[in-house]
Amino acid sequence: MFRKILIANRGEIAVRILRACKMMGIKTVAVHSVIDEALMHVRLADESVCIGPDKAADSYLNIASILSAAELTGCDAIHPGVGFLSENEKFAKMVAGHGIKFIGPDPRHLAEMGDKILAKKTMASYGVPVVKGSNGNVQSIDEAMDIAEEIGYPILFKAASGGGGKGMKVANSTSEIESAFKLAKAESKSSFNDDTVYMERYLQNPRHIEVQIISDAFGNVIHLGERDCSIQRNHQKIIEEAPSTALSHDQRKVIGEIAINAVKRLGYVGVGTLEFLYENNEFFFMEMNTRLQVEHGVSEELTGIDIVKEQIRIASGERLSFSQSDVQFSGHVIEFRINAESPDTFLPSPGKVDELFFPGGNGIRIDSHLYRDYTVPPFYDSLIAKIIVHADNRADCLSKAMGALDELVIDGILNTTDLHKKLVRNNDIILGNFNIHWLEKNLGGL
Ligand code: ADP
Repeated sequence: MFRKILIANRGEIAVRILRACKMMGIKTVAVHSVIDEALMHVRLADESVCIGPDKAADSYLNIASILSAAELTGCDAIHPGVGFLSENEKFAKMVAGHGIKFIGPDPRHLAEMGDKILAKKTMASYGVPVVKGSNGNVQSIDEAMDIAEEIGYPILFKAASGGGGKGMKVANSTSEIESAFKLAKAESKSSFNDDTVYMERYLQNPRHIEVQIISDAFGNVIHLGERDCSIQRNHQKIIEEAPSTALSHDQRKVIGEIAINAVKRLGYVGVGTLEFLYENNEFFFMEMNTRLQVEHGVSEELTGIDIVKEQIRIASGERLSFSQSDVQFSGHVIEFRINAESPDTFLPSPGKVDELFFPGGNGIRIDSHLYRDYTVPPFYDSLIAKIIVHADNRADCLSKAMGALDELVIDGILNTTDLHKKLVRNNDIILGNFNIHWLEKNLGGL
């Protein structure tokens, strides 16, 4: 097992990883930008190193600086967390080149699944159903017109290097193709330094269903069930739950098996998530995230399995400590993302937290790095807390969530708590009548 892990991340996920390390008796090194000196995991880690100025490009994405910190402190592994360098093939290779273990999959899987066009092709070749679309990158408006005629409107342009819902543009008819194509390309270039875009049929009524998988280097692959992440804003998740109200027992089995088979064919080792759209009883693969996900806690609470601990064990060469038949799904779990942003416009709201009170009690898990008087900086992701609620069934889970959200106090900055308070009382949410477009359509009337 590793002796000392450098956590190449910040915020709530860095605290989460640090907790797993402490439990496993592994020493921790926090790295941080100048402004993040007083971040919670920096205070809790055994050692800390400042890796650069506030802009992420100069600190959390600064490979040379992170590698020097790992060497200076004598780390034998680096956990990249989520976002930042977690899916960066070059980083994974350089970490390995320094004789340090990258806690993540083989770099070739980061590359293959990181290119969303290649990922879809690979999955289709394994018999995984994919969303209908262009077979590769779309190079011209004329080509886009031809493909749109073939697959039918509305269509969606997506960034091949995409992430975080960026670089996506819808065209409802021929007249909208040119501007959607240009906008998608421009956004993709500015966000990912790659203007390669592809096209997909834009589904009108789907749920976002994803499957959490874990596999070790000995060919053992298991899944921890699905998560329904259909409540989204700007193509980004804001509530995640398991099990999904949209799936029957049989459909759950089908998607679990599809995911396991694909991962076996890939020869993938580590934790990962296969994301699908689900409409009219059909699953369509969108992408695979080759890392830990923000919403991993939902599956942890549902199954009692510590995904981060397993991820670290697998990276150190150990076998999975359980088999598929050991995985038990208990009750219902819903996660609410609390973001430092306006609950109406979703514009970021950085600033000082003047007052803070987190709910508690049986079945309430809080993953957060916040403390009173902490100042949320304007430079990074707006996620400040995850409220993960577990109960015997969905109705109890929603009632418990109402109480927890009512107890929650985060003063001084705008945040999404009030939105969640409305959502848990909304009839469509209570009845499970929603799809990925629901929040956008209903936000004004909440
Ligand atoms: P990213 O990597 O940027 O998160 P994804 O491919 O995972 O991109 O898509 C993010 C979200 O965008 C999905 O959860 C879904 O809500 C929406 N989306 C993606 N592809 C489609 C599609 N073909 N039709 C409708 N919505 C889509």
